[in-house]
Amino acid sequence: MLSNRAENIKPSPTLAIDAKAKAMKAAGADVVNFGVGEPDFDTPEHIKEAAIKALRDGFTKYTPVGGIDPLKDAIIGKFQTDNGLSYSREEIIVSCGAKHSLYNIAQALYGPGDEVIIPAPYWVSYPDQVLLNDATPVIVKTQESDAFVLSPEALEAHITKRTKALILNSPSNPTGRTYDGKTLERIAQVVLKHGLYVISDEIYEKLVYDGVKHVSIASVSEEMKKRTLVVNGLSKSHAMTGWRLGFTAGPREIIKAMTTIQSQSTSNANSITQKAAVEALTGPQDFIGMMRGEFDKRRKFLVSELNSIPDVSCITPTGAFYAFPNISGLFGKVNGKPVFCSSDLALYLLEDAGVALVPGDAFGDDRHMRLSYATSMENIRKGVERIREAIGNLK
Ligand SMILES: *Cc1c(COP(=O)(O)O)cnc(C)c1O
Repeated sequence: MLSNRAENIKPSPTLAIDAKAKAMKAAGADVVNFGVGEPDFDTPEHIKEAAIKALRDGFTKYTPVGGIDPLKDAIIGKFQTDNGLSYSREEIIVSCGAKHSLYNIAQALYGPGDEVIIPAPYWVSYPDQVLLNDATPVIVKTQESDAFVLSPEALEAHITKRTKALILNSPSNPTGRTYDGKTLERIAQVVLKHGLYVISDEIYEKLVYDGVKHVSIASVSEEMKKRTLVVNGLSKSHAMTGWRLGFTAGPREIIKAMTTIQSQSTSNANSITQKAAVEALTGPQDFIGMMRGEFDKRRKFLVSELNSIPDVSCITPTGAFYAFPNISGLFGKVNGKPVFCSSDLALYLLEDAGVALVPGDAFGDDRHMRLSYATSMENIRKGVERIREAIGNLK
């Protein structure tokens, strides 16, 4: 009865775990939730005020499909200031969240027979969005010893005549690692040699630590800019996940196709959100520094605690708000039920210790699990102690 397309994909696993943890909580259980993929901070007040003003002013009608000009101009300004990239309005489209931006790109670029290279561990929606467009995801494993960064050699080894694009995500969800400029230059050489596109998901751009500077692969060269679709948004940088606003910058013919596709699906992003987004991008930015400072404290604490648990090791994340410890040292251990994989461990920790996190399996890496530190220090403290105890009970 259902289409092949519908049969081939699965619900977002991160949202599924989050739902289970919330259901347990609603039923009265005391659950520490490391599963969430959104900032625990509230949207800054001045952004809310801009939305309230938009409502009061009656800015509640359809807008141009690809976004209002003041927002496109604010986005152009952001790319210029943050990334040294110059775009015109025809090279920008505003969508209903960065996930929607990525989906529009998939619709505009991928088709039957196309291969899209996705480094693993990957964000959960990349492979399924490729599948939804009848193309083939080609998963390329990265090494923990390389800090989960795709090597240009591994990339080249997986390119075929059918390869259309490479999806990059720096800072990365789930690994929390970042690509440096030198590596991006070497990847760009391979990409240009084979005439691929790069979809660069930079949604965690503002969340970098230890003096890391975010680099967009589009800024590596003018040629590379022509082959790159840069995706970004406000969900993570301005704590605006529920507002649904993402944007893409790239070659005008692709942006035009994405706009046409969007005109036949969702039409414009929410009008009120667009006004709020102008304020988010052009108003005071001090909120971001405050949030990053808090995340940084939690990051240091969580990673050092995880590393003090026997048979668990965690490389230091340099971006986003996730720790991605290696838990494969626990495989084969038992407490009532045996633990053979990341899902076994996640279920054990949820049911026995009241701790929700996402098994690495969901991201194409079964030897790890993902903990979000977008939760209070108090929760992190409590959650880590529960994990330590539950893992200590595995024999
Ligand atoms: C959160 C997230 C997104 C989607 O963000 P929205 O703008 O809320 O749709 C995209 N990519 C990655 C890697 C994310 O973690």
